[in-house]
Amino acid sequence: MNNYPVMEKLDGVFINGKKVSTNQILDLYNPANIDERVGKISTGEVSHVKQSIEAAEEAWKTWKEVPIEKRLAYLSEVANYIESNLSSLSELLVLEHGKTLEESSMDLKAAVGVLRYYASLNHALDEEVVENEQGKMVLKRQPVGVVSVIVPWNFPIILSFLMLAPSILAGNTVVIKPPSFAPMTLTKILTHFAEQLPKGVLNIVLGSGSTIGKEMTEHPRVRKIAFTGSTETGRTIMKGASNTIKKLSMELGGNDAAVFLKDQPITDKLIEDCIKATFTACGQICYSIKRVYVPSENYELFIKKFTEAMENFKVGSGLDPDVDMGPINNKPQYDSILRLLEKTKKRGSEIKELGTYSSSIKPERGYFLLPMLVTNVSNTDPIVQEEQFGPILPVVKYSTEEEALELVNNTEFGLANSVWSPNEEKAFEFASHLQSGSVFINTHRVGASAANMPFGGFKQSGIGRSHGMEAIYEHTELQAIIRRSDM
Ligand code: NAD
Repeated sequence: MNNYPVMEKLDGVFINGKKVSTNQILDLYNPANIDERVGKISTGEVSHVKQSIEAAEEAWKTWKEVPIEKRLAYLSEVANYIESNLSSLSELLVLEHGKTLEESSMDLKAAVGVLRYYASLNHALDEEVVENEQGKMVLKRQPVGVVSVIVPWNFPIILSFLMLAPSILAGNTVVIKPPSFAPMTLTKILTHFAEQLPKGVLNIVLGSGSTIGKEMTEHPRVRKIAFTGSTETGRTIMKGASNTIKKLSMELGGNDAAVFLKDQPITDKLIEDCIKATFTACGQICYSIKRVYVPSENYELFIKKFTEAMENFKVGSGLDPDVDMGPINNKPQYDSILRLLEKTKKRGSEIKELGTYSSSIKPERGYFLLPMLVTNVSNTDPIVQEEQFGPILPVVKYSTEEEALELVNNTEFGLANSVWSPNEEKAFEFASHLQSGSVFINTHRVGASAANMPFGGFKQSGIGRSHGMEAIYEHTELQAIIRRSDM
């Protein structure tokens, strides 16, 4: 193996205001070239989680009394840090993640947007006073205490701050576990953030889900778990959390559909939007388009135009400015996609590979896949029903819009869907029958759900809502202080 000089050497454990050295080291390799080591990071043990929770519990006693304006200032400070280091952080993220430079900087800029949004909410915790013939009631939003935040690898920066910012704002203290894939950029930012905050407010323990994550979700002094990741892990976490009735926010898997209504022409713009929404970050986005529903009369035209539009699409290293899509981030995810494709072939579907590899890479030395269009599928096929989390688009035909609605809703997922039609009124009406936390009209891409718009899943796509004020409510306990005048 050809080990390039190690670029980064980081500590993955930070407790009570201090970096903690450990002997366990995780080597990180470039998913676009698995022979290239891009960094080393130390990982923690269960004892570090216990120490972090103790430190967080102690820090909470004073942190919850700090005025909100002061807490918000820390959010602005970390936003400034990310902005001033945007280019080096983006490059590091490409190397450890595989996403293109544009996608990596999108992850970081989106986090800045979220931090700035929450930093502006000085009145988020204002109490409400209700006075009527029954007496007086004061409604207060109280912090919950120690929160465990668990992060996936696909968009690690924005997803962390979507959970962290409302939690810190609300006066909680946190133990956070970055993902084992692509942990370096996030850990760098989190360490900076933790160094600014009073000691114990933010503690970091990198490590595996089955040890570190398990302790973070079962420890009795943790009051709340904010989790973003797969539905399967969400299920395990719920079981572990049940013994001590922890509060849960869960942003889980999605299998988002785009539905082109009958009156939606198959325009170049539609195709371009659909390509972006499907293949950005190699399809590794919870709300990428993962299946598309096309009226049978437009089916052939859609396939033809989509295929033509992909002719010059390039797959390669995320640092190459001519590349449209990088590799899959990690081997387990890559293998899971290959297994799904195998099943799809066995069912007789047609898998059309699109685009080409850049001449500057060796595709076999990275987790590369060409984007794929899958035709001749039935709605019950695994490629349509399962979350692929890769660059694959199955195309399902429908005859009537009633049938389309039924086909789209026939899933255990319910994160986000999109409806496309020039008739806005009709699109809104159709959207209201879709079983998903978000429905986008005539768009479906990263950023479609802004920081102030509630986001979350119906059915097995999650519990609770992130973004907006809803996320703050998720990180607080509602307390009613009551003086009855009629008793
Ligand atoms: P994952 O569930 O495998 O891992 C997520 C995190 O959970 C990681 O940090 C992992 O180490 C940890 N973990 C694993 N087992 C654990 C356990 N037993 N206890 C505690 N923690 C444990 O998910 P992933 O592969 O990292 O991410 C991809 C998934 O995340 C996809 O399903 C995607 O749809 C979903 N996701 C959802 C959203 C959303 O907003 N709904 C956003 C991004 C990703």
